[in-house]
Amino acid sequence: MEYEPIIGLETHVQLKTKSKMWCGCPNQYGADPNTQVCPVCLGMPGVLPVANEEALRLTALTGYLLNCDLPRHARFDRKNYFYPDVAKNYQITQLALPSTINGHVDFELNGKTERVQLTRAHLEEDVGKSFHYDRQSGVDFNRGGVPLLEIITEPCITTADMAHAYLNALKDILTYAGISDCDMEKGMVRCDVNISVRPKGTAELGAKVEIKNMNSFSGVRRALQYEIPRQIEAIQNNETIAQETRRWDDVAGITESMRNKENAHDYRYFPDPDLMAFEPSEAWLEEVKKGVVELPLARKRRFMEQYKLPDGDADVFVNDVSLGDYFEQIAVKVEQPKALANWVINNLQAKLTESETSLQELKFDAAALLELIKLVDSGKISTKIAQTVFVEMFDTGKSPAAIVEEKGLVQVSDSGAIETLCQQAIEANPGPADDFRKGKEAALNFLKGQVMKLSRGKANPALVGEVLKRILNG
Ligand SMILES: [Zn+2]
Repeated sequence: MEYEPIIGLETHVQLKTKSKMWCGCPNQYGADPNTQVCPVCLGMPGVLPVANEEALRLTALTGYLLNCDLPRHARFDRKNYFYPDVAKNYQITQLALPSTINGHVDFELNGKTERVQLTRAHLEEDVGKSFHYDRQSGVDFNRGGVPLLEIITEPCITTADMAHAYLNALKDILTYAGISDCDMEKGMVRCDVNISVRPKGTAELGAKVEIKNMNSFSGVRRALQYEIPRQIEAIQNNETIAQETRRWDDVAGITESMRNKENAHDYRYFPDPDLMAFEPSEAWLEEVKKGVVELPLARKRRFMEQYKLPDGDADVFVNDVSLGDYFEQIAVKVEQPKALANWVINNLQAKLTESETSLQELKFDAAALLELIKLVDSGKISTKIAQTVFVEMFDTGKSPAAIVEEKGLVQVSDSGAIETLCQQAIEANPGPADDFRKGKEAALNFLKGQVMKLSRGKANPALVGEVLKRILNG
């Protein structure tokens, strides 16, 4: 019998705000423990939370970007439980009336467009972080109260690769729009995975296993690659799969049972009496909408269509937004955007990386690159010489025309001069010349290379080829 896994993901993302969700403490990673706290985020008696408007805005913006519905009435609830990392003994979250519902994320996987449906994205607060030492434990409350968005998918993901691709697409969207930095090493994104397995074609879901607190997308993929066959094997051996929470051991590469979930926790949720319902006005939502940016997948498709770029080039400009924007500035002015893309990717990007400089620090403007391309197109300089000119341009900021002039790099298209060089090359290399006469076409490239060398790269390569052939065949 064939089995199919059914996977749902709950992704927690820290929002990129200056301050925390309910108080003015900084939302900043890396400070000394318990230095970014106040009576509000420490849950002292008698304090009152005040909602961070920027967090509400980023939540609504996420809703627009993920194609969600934005209810005009949302509410904050208290989720009550005792744990050392929650000083208040409850976490403020949204249970019954979240800020966004429904939605979907589209992304590419193995050349196909896939869609993951979302159930909701709700706003809550992060909790403190526990540390365990040899003989004692400690809690750092700097993270407590940081705005956290929980994005929940429908159980519609069917492979480990699909889960991985969805998470990457989600991360790209959120970083693109400035909603979160999604720095996984700083714990800004954490993921809970729900997985069950059932005989293919049946409607009923199998017992659900939860893998908690994954902090890397590759970890999610590996955990699923382990967990799916584990559950299938258990079913085939007539074992019952326990509804439980498991932990992923990244070093051992296995999941192990943490706790049984037979008795679901009762968190005694109730509406937070200290907070008003959130009822965004249409005018406010219109303002939020202005933050909607072109999403990575849409940008990729537009680059491929508008500029006729291949998949790989478009990917480069999607992953490096400022480089893509730079390309676009000039692309609208050239006839062959693909040739420009080659320049931007193969030369400019490579040089930027090599010299560890940013686009903002460039010594020449976009018009100069355009000028260089025109010099090549008009046949004034060869592509090879253009590479030299580019390096000089990059280092000094001088204009391409000035460099060509100064260094005498104008392409030699004078057939008399080229003929002399060809004669020299043939005389110096009788072997390859003979080979060509005997029908070995490849020998011509060798001779061509020699002529280019003699001309110090300045000869017009097409013309060199013609003249060589004429002399050798004549
Ligand atoms: Zn605080």
